Amino acid sequence: MARQTKVLVTGAGGFIGHHLVTHLKRAGYWVRGVDLKLPEFSATDADDFKVLDLRVWENCREATSGVDEVYALAADMGGMGFISAHHAQILHNNALINLHTLEAARLSGVRRYFYSSSACIYPEYLQGKTDVAPLREEDAYPAAPQDAYGWEKLVTERLCMHYREDYGLETRVARFHNIFGPLGTWDGGREKAPAALCRKIAIAKLAGNSELEIWGDGEQTRSFCYIDDCVAGIYRLMRSEHHDPLNLGQDRMVTINQLADIISEIAGFRIVKKHITGPQGVRGRNSDNTRLRAVLGWQPEVSLEEGLRRTYVWIEEQVRAAAPRFGTPNSKAQASR
Ligand code: NAD
Repeated sequence: MARQTKVLVTGAGGFIGHHLVTHLKRAGYWVRGVDLKLPEFSATDADDFKVLDLRVWENCREATSGVDEVYALAADMGGMGFISAHHAQILHNNALINLHTLEAARLSGVRRYFYSSSACIYPEYLQGKTDVAPLREEDAYPAAPQDAYGWEKLVTERLCMHYREDYGLETRVARFHNIFGPLGTWDGGREKAPAALCRKIAIAKLAGNSELEIWGDGEQTRSFCYIDDCVAGIYRLMRSEHHDPLNLGQDRMVTINQLADIISEIAGFRIVKKHITGPQGVRGRNSDNTRLRAVLGWQPEVSLEEGLRRTYVWIEEQVRAAAPRFGTPNSKAQASR
């Protein structure tokens, strides 16, 4: 009988890594998860889970030992509020994680390596207006990412390319565009726009207070991709022979104001937007999915409305469970249903 393929997922205690572990288990792999922490919202499906700090070389050797493939998702990251305020920490921590994980994978004889890059690698000068042209993979250069987070991702993309060319380690790189869904960080400062808006609208609904704070004028544009499509895309890319970086996201662009309106509709609660000062990131960003479709013969399938509906339902549950923390007594919350 053929030996079961063993894979490592780093960042397996985080949002995408946790979902990816479940996907890989269903696909029949033996899976080791590694992270600084266990998944917060549901138990891992991993066969083996190690709590390790991957900035440390010896821990990367332990994590990669005995596995055939690696999915590298561990990163010190968060939404715009976090990324725009922790440049040194992010560049330092993520550079250590990625340099050590890739080299340890090579020494352990890993055959295939997936790296989770980001739309944040694209140059700021192409994202200065709301109705931007969708970003094609080749637009990455001349390089000018907005934040240290994007620079580090770009350097690790290049590291993957050189490891493939110089050492024959098959590397695959996806540039994620705003992934969202249930079981992701929704509170505490690292959450991203869809989760933050779902939380704010759930709290507003439970408290019966319709005011919703939005960073900036809310006209900044993005595309958003549901988690199930993200893990399906990662897996397809890993099994493909395409080794250049590939966009992985939706190509439907909406404003943050529109995103808030869709969530408000799903919540069944009308909101009044209050625009306040806050970090907004680039003015506009969208994914060009021409190559994604050509390479994978596939594209993300879950609509924004359906993905947000699943996400909102989960976040409203979390908010209800934590109601006293938000000053939204459950009794009042129940009454406003
Ligand atoms: P996440 O923060 O939920 O998961 C990242 C995980 O990495 C966390 O659980 C964290 O504890 C872990 N980690 C951080 N430092 C570590 C260390 N020193 N050792 C071990 N583990 C460590 O984020 P996510 O949304 O699941 O993102 C996964 C990957 O995808 C990241 O590399 C991220 O940069 C990338 N990405 C995500 C998005 C998105 O929209 N979510 C967009 C672009 C790129």
